[in-house]
Amino acid sequence: MAAVTRLFRSSSSSSSALFYIRRSLSTSAATELKSQTCPPRIDPKGRNVQWVFLGCPGVGKGTYASRLSALLGVPHIATGDLVREELSSSGPLSKQLADIVNQGKLVSDEIIINLLSKRLEMGEAKGESGFILDGFPRTVRQAEILDEVTDIELVVNLKLPENVLLEKCLGRRICSQCGKNFNLASINVKGENGNPDISMAPLLPPSQCASKLITRSDDTETIIRERLRVYNEKSQPVEDFYRGQGKLLEFDLPGGIPESWPKLLEALNLDENDDKQAATA
Ligand code: ADP
Repeated sequence: MAAVTRLFRSSSSSSSALFYIRRSLSTSAATELKSQTCPPRIDPKGRNVQWVFLGCPGVGKGTYASRLSALLGVPHIATGDLVREELSSSGPLSKQLADIVNQGKLVSDEIIINLLSKRLEMGEAKGESGFILDGFPRTVRQAEILDEVTDIELVVNLKLPENVLLEKCLGRRICSQCGKNFNLASINVKGENGNPDISMAPLLPPSQCASKLITRSDDTETIIRERLRVYNEKSQPVEDFYRGQGKLLEFDLPGGIPESWPKLLEALNLDENDDKQAATA
């Protein structure tokens, strides 16, 4: 684990900016971010962000983390992508990882930390600083290790009802050629217990991708249900871990990207004008 410690430490040592978000987090519960007035506009590319995105499978962590990564000029590091890269290689871990992922289980903390460590090392060599982590930490042990080696500024917890998550995972498609993500699901769910209705338009592929769509091998109903069960068992305690530190920003997605993205920017106190820079994300 020494390599992880060194790498995480080096990535945290350059932490400096995002001062206004940090200040709000250090003095109040993260949810209070929503009620604060916007800070003066500063160059989004000049920040060094160390954020984590939490949320159940299918909630859209990758979508929003990658948009924010483009906006803020920091790498979006998704441990699920690292796992999929490794299992599509002919490396020694490939078969072992495929068995775990296709059962909807979690990869061991040790394997995932090794993959993340390698990814950070590569980024460091390229001069990257800061990160938005997506899918890590997923266990309290991972969160404790991360805490030992770096100073996470903010943890965004994206939320959707479970029936929506299932539909979203089942509708998920990836273009095997360009790698872009799409979603064929058209979601219209009545809100329960006083919650608002949720509608999400499908995110359809352009004609050049339409014939090249593939589905993730773990996006079958049985495996999705197991991943949701595993999330509730192993990853919900991670939410509690960060809630206790006052770093958790709870964000109930109000709908699809057009409805949710501006509201997320608002909750993060990011300038609406920054939106334009992420439009191509
Ligand atoms: P999801 O859509 O379920 O959030 P991800 O793409 O984040 O899926 O991850 C895919 C799979 O990779 C997970 O089901 C799990 O097997 C493995 N994985 C990803 N991140 C972690 C992690 N931090 N710890 C353990 N396993 C992980």
